[in-house]
Amino acid sequence: MIKTKELPKEVTVNSCNLCSPLGASIAFKGIKNCMAILHGSQGCATYIRRYMIAHFREPVDIASSSFTEDTAVFGGGEKLKNGIDNIISQYNPEVIGIATSCLSETIGDDVSRYIQEYQKERTAMNLPEIILTSTPSYNGNHETGFFKTQRALVEHLCSQQEKTEQFTAFINIISPEDIRQLKEIFQSFNYSYILMPDFSDTLDGGSWKEFNKIPPGGTSVDEISRVSSSKTNIEFSICINSKISPGDYLFERFNIPNIQLPIPIGIKATDQLMTALEEITNTTIPINLENQRRRLIDAYSDAHKYIFGKKVAIIGHGDLVYSLASFISEVGMIPLICSTGGTHEKLIPLLTQIAEEYHYPVPQICLDYDHDDIESELEGNDIDLIIGSSKAYKMAKKLKKPLIRIGFPIHDRFGAAAKLTIGYQGTRSLLNEIVNLFIQIQQDENPVGYTYQ
Ligand code: SF4
Repeated sequence: MIKTKELPKEVTVNSCNLCSPLGASIAFKGIKNCMAILHGSQGCATYIRRYMIAHFREPVDIASSSFTEDTAVFGGGEKLKNGIDNIISQYNPEVIGIATSCLSETIGDDVSRYIQEYQKERTAMNLPEIILTSTPSYNGNHETGFFKTQRALVEHLCSQQEKTEQFTAFINIISPEDIRQLKEIFQSFNYSYILMPDFSDTLDGGSWKEFNKIPPGGTSVDEISRVSSSKTNIEFSICINSKISPGDYLFERFNIPNIQLPIPIGIKATDQLMTALEEITNTTIPINLENQRRRLIDAYSDAHKYIFGKKVAIIGHGDLVYSLASFISEVGMIPLICSTGGTHEKLIPLLTQIAEEYHYPVPQICLDYDHDDIESELEGNDIDLIIGSSKAYKMAKKLKKPLIRIGFPIHDRFGAAAKLTIGYQGTRSLLNEIVNLFIQIQQDENPVGYTYQ
């Protein structure tokens, strides 16, 4: 059954969508020596910082052009220019990433013109690259903001170049540990690559002797400018709209083939990545990855008795919902409800295909839902497990259902940045978490205990 939110619903309660500039800010944090500024009011930047700090547990600076009542009426050009001046004097960045807020978009602020004026007014200065991404949250969410920013970066920095033996990977919103896992996989194929945006160090760095205003790490301007010399691109999204896809842009402009892959959770999705890498690099899967795959298959068979037939509700952004539904089906569980705050029409045929492949009824697909709507759907439903972000906790507690936290934000548990869920290794770690949860439930519910002496 396919459900979309019945209109009119006057309020969104505990939204599944997060703010579009938040996605843009995560992407900008993956760029080396980059400082993000939100063109809007201070509260928006504070909200974004609060979520990112609670999830990544790192200091997160995001500037704001600090709209006032006057700015909201007469435009924020001067505020933005002052903000950029302050960022340059305080942070000396190589890149300034500007994300627009709902307010600046609503009043129709011409930010591109402000940037041109700023650059003309300061021709004597050695200015950083200034990248603009348009991110009104009423026309998108954190997921769209994340990809729009990647597209803005390649649109701004790439030009025609000779092709080299290299590929580019445009990642989805995954954890820093997942990014490290991806890099390990790529390195195993011993082939040149560019990964963007790489926030594995900037949002999960070590301790420092001296404070760095901009954390070290990230994809450099030089690397992004060389993206157009890649032979192929891999884009980890199958729900993405072509208009915001960096890979589709590079295909249209530079004729670089774009391979769109699911987030590699589960054997099938990871196999798809391996096949793509084998074709790009003209080699076969390295032995270390083949061994990881064999161990994962073994874990699937060991786990079967604990989890077979369990019914699951999945909540997340479109690509995450698809990959989790595919993984859940592989291990013999049933995705009964698949829900997202976005309006991903593409999810419908994709989830239907999974259901047909694994011979169970098509899950209830809830598009454009908030957690309040999902709670109503789950009430009276025979669900064994909810998989979602920390925002699903309230509902899980009320419905007395266990919750596995995955995605963004995870702010009521420790270690979100270290959470590994992708590739054969990550899938195994996610499977362990699910199986152990059900063993724990059996132990808790069994009056005589459930243990080895
Ligand atoms: S008003 Fe818009 S930009 Fe500001 S925090 Fe809310 S959703 Fe984000």
